[in-house]
Order: sequence, then C-alpha cells, then structure tokens
Amino acid sequence: MPRQLLFLPGPVMVAPPVLRAMDRPLIDHRGPEFAAMLERIIAALRPVFGTRGEIAILGSSGTGAMEALVANLFTPGERLLSCPVGSFGKRFAGIAASYGCTVETLETPLGAAVDPAALQARLHADSEKRIAGVLLTHNETSTGVANDMAALAPMLRAHGAITLVDSVSGLGASEFRMDEWGYDAVATASQKAFAAPPGVAMVALSERARARLENRALARFYFDLRRALEFSHIGQTPWTPPISILFALDAALAAYHAGGMRAAFERHAAFAGLVRTALQRLGFTLLSRPGAHSDTVIAAYPPPGSDPDPLLRALREEYGVVLSGGQADLAGKIVRFGTMGDVSARDLQTAFEAIEAAQLELTSGVA
Ligand code: PLP
Repeated sequence: MPRQLLFLPGPVMVAPPVLRAMDRPLIDHRGPEFAAMLERIIAALRPVFGTRGEIAILGSSGTGAMEALVANLFTPGERLLSCPVGSFGKRFAGIAASYGCTVETLETPLGAAVDPAALQARLHADSEKRIAGVLLTHNETSTGVANDMAALAPMLRAHGAITLVDSVSGLGASEFRMDEWGYDAVATASQKAFAAPPGVAMVALSERARARLENRALARFYFDLRRALEFSHIGQTPWTPPISILFALDAALAAYHAGGMRAAFERHAAFAGLVRTALQRLGFTLLSRPGAHSDTVIAAYPPPGSDPDPLLRALREEYGVVLSGGQADLAGKIVRFGTMGDVSARDLQTAFEAIEAAQLELTSGVA
C-alpha cells in the first residue's frame, strides 16, 4: 500500500525509529530489562502528567484506562457530575452509568468548553456534597474542544469531589499540571500525542485517589489498579504486557523529551493554528468556539453545500491524505484534522494542497 499521510485524531504517524524499536526480540516481562524499561517509561511520563504520584501502565487502549478509573474509584450509587463537551465525555459518563453510578450531566453548548462559572454554580449548589466525583475531558477529540483545566481546578478543589480526567488526546500536546491543579486521576494512551502505536494506556493517581483504592470492595479484576501499582513497584505489570508496544513507547518518550516538552506544546499549538487558518481559507467553518480550540484536533464544517464524505474519500484514495469524519450526531457533517504524531510543516502543506485540489475536483467535476 502506498504511504498514507495520517492526520487522524489518533492513531497517528509514528516515526521510523520508533517503529524500528519494535523490531527486536521479546524480553522476559518478569526480568530486569523489562523492569528498567518500565521505570524509564514511568519517569518519562511523570513531568508530562505533572505528578510526583503513582502512575500505572495498562495493556489496553484509552477506553480501558477510563473504565479502570471509574471501576476503581467509585461504588454503585455514588453520584457523579459528568461535564461532556462531545462524544468522549459522553463515553466517560456511559462507563460510569454502566458501573451503577448515578450520573448527572452539566450541559455545555456544542463547540464550547466547560464554562467555569456554570461548573462553579453547580458545585456551589451541592452544599451537602452529594457529588462524589466529577468527570472531565481535557481535550475532546470529537469536537476539537479543549477545556481550560487550570481554570476549572480551583472550584473543583474547593468542592472536594474526586476528579477524573480523560486526557487521551491532550497529554503530551498541552500542558497538564496534575499535582499543582489538584486533579485526582488522569488517563491517557500511547497512540496520540506520544506518537507511539496503540495498545498501552497510562493512568496517574493522586494520594486521595490512591487511598480510595484501598477502601473499596469493588468488582474489578483485570483493571484492578491496586494490583497494577503493586506490580509496578517491582517493575512489572500484573498481566502479560504488550512488550513490543512498550519498546516503541519507550523510544517515543525518549524522542519526545529529547525535543523538549515545551517545544512539543508549541509545535502542536502552531500546527493547530496553521490548520485552522488553512481550513478557514478553504471555506470551512470551525466547530470549536474561540477560546475553546484544541491544539490536537481541528473539527470543521465544510463549505456550505459540500458533503464531507466524498471529500474524505477523494483525499484518501487519490492523495493518500487521511482525515477523519464526525462521530455520532456529527457523522457526515464535519471533518477532523489531527496535528499529533510524526507530522512536519511540509506534511501539513501537502494536506492543504490536497484538500484544495480535491475540493476543486468535486465542485467542478474535474477528475
Ligand atoms: N478519550 C478521548 C478524548 C479520545 O480521543 C479517545 C480516542 O480517540 C478515547 C478517549 C478512547 O481511546 P481509545 O480509542 O484508545 O480507547
């Protein structure tokens, strides 16, 4: 198959040295080489989460990490406040509901980020502290919306609920200061801003979250975070880990830090700015509202009267440029352009030229 340029919201293009890191013999996952690698990976993740606390590595995609957080931190019947700004926020709420939690939703208009004043008002009204937990999405991949996690943090801390954050498509690309901001549990995954293949999820836990693991008699087994941490302390995972993907993640994190975390934040922000400008120049309308733009995913409506699906098809089939469409209610309405992974400014330019050519071809019928 000819090489494709992936501008998906994940999985992303993985640099050749990271791919080559998987091309080596497997090692004993109960041996010293594995323990050293796990320690390196956790140490490399610590500044990205912004935590000195516990980090567990799970053999799963990001959804598994979200489920692990819910299953380990709450009991059936506990009230959670879900703050969705798109499909992945709703998925988080759905996981909590399926574990028997009572889920209340703080509604946010499409394209907007969670309004700190609205969250403040809801938490303030909860004088009896019936809300045990709050579910948030750092970066919502379905709508290209980023929440201002620093601005939301003080009111959450003041209320005292346990805060769960899905940062599957945020961490690594945008700043997150878990300890300083006071978030309790954060989930991410290998295949987004860390630019590694899919298959590894990572969760970080605050002291408070850690203490909750001990107290609960919960139904959980594979995703028992107590067990994950016990094994992590001896340089292992409870179950057979995806060793080859961990080789890649280890190499990806080394490359990430060699480039510098700040440079990674700046690159994602700069690329997102370029994509927003290019799409608007080509007649697209951004879905995210000013002040709520994500640095990793740009969601946009095509020019009036044009259908995103033939455009996405032409881009993939004729130009080898792969973007995403919309999810759920946004299916067939938007395109989504990801900036994560082994992407260069030249790759972006190629994509913009391809979009322009494909649009021209579709509107004029020129093949
Ligand atoms: N949360 C967000 C914000 C995501 O972008 C994704 C994946 O796109 C997920 C959760 C689910 O992750 P996974 O597909 O790795 O299970």
